[in-house]
Amino acid sequence: MHKNRRTFIKSTAIGATAIPSIVASLSEPLLSEDDLKPVVISTWNHGLAANEAAWKILATGGKAIDAVESGVRITESDPTGQSVGIGGRPDMTGEVTLDACIMNEHGDCGSVAYLKGIEHPISVARAVMEKTRHVMLVGDGAKEFALAQGFPEVNLLTEKSKKDWEEWKVSQRKVLPKINVENHDTIGLLALDKNGDLSGACTTSGAAWKMKGRVGDSPIIGAGLYVDNEIGGATATGWGEAVIRAVGCFLVVELMRQGNSPQKACELAVQRVIDKNPDWREIQVGFIALNKSGEYGAYCIHAGFDYAVQHPKLDNQMIKSDSRLSL
Ligand code: ASP
Repeated sequence: MHKNRRTFIKSTAIGATAIPSIVASLSEPLLSEDDLKPVVISTWNHGLAANEAAWKILATGGKAIDAVESGVRITESDPTGQSVGIGGRPDMTGEVTLDACIMNEHGDCGSVAYLKGIEHPISVARAVMEKTRHVMLVGDGAKEFALAQGFPEVNLLTEKSKKDWEEWKVSQRKVLPKINVENHDTIGLLALDKNGDLSGACTTSGAAWKMKGRVGDSPIIGAGLYVDNEIGGATATGWGEAVIRAVGCFLVVELMRQGNSPQKACELAVQRVIDKNPDWREIQVGFIALNKSGEYGAYCIHAGFDYAVQHPKLDNQMIKSDSRLSL
């Protein structure tokens, strides 16, 4: 279990003579209020660079919504990452299509799906949230909206991803991507700012070699991302179809609302995914969660998923998620 709660007990609160058995019996350690904020947490090892960008905003008292957008934009712009933004692996017809969503502390949300030729789907999703009365735009409509908002058109298909796709076509490999492809897939990033507000962002090029028109969990509010500022937030990575069937991130947040820690909520949600998906041994699904107090947790089906965390008591670093199955 990964908790960032300070586990020490303040001597002023229980006295210097406290004996270990008394300390051990306290289920809720007493906390210094400022220790837990801000916090940023994000999926996979590309999360380190994303957290760094988010932290610049959070550390200076900026808003979580700005931090989550800035963070994942770094990943979207990295051509070496083959699962998000530029450089993302294409669908089975050779076209890169992007999915993203964002949610702020007011419960406002924006989303784009099947978006082509735009480097920063997360910022288009934010524009949908802030500048339209809708939540989700897809395909041509999303692209036209992005261009009208001044987002430039770019080529998302890199030589590397094009070559991989050509090889895949020749070999006619299975459509399912390998579990933990290259140890980085979708980036989902959650932040708690100094003000105590939560926001989240999720962005991906989706499953490699997906069917034309396929949209996964990542732009679906409640599936790939959910934030409730009273409770906490969650985001998902892995086989999106399985996450959608369980409405995974809404489930994680509701489990936290029922009193579960972020860690326990992620474990219970993975169990639900397992229950709802007979092929669960063949797929990866992972959740990360962050609550209003700054506690966080993660859980996944297959070992190999990790996530990046930074808060005032922890330098930006990777943490290995616990898993249902070991390697
Ligand atoms: N969840 C993403 C999707 O299904 C992909 C991933 O995280 O690997 O589109």
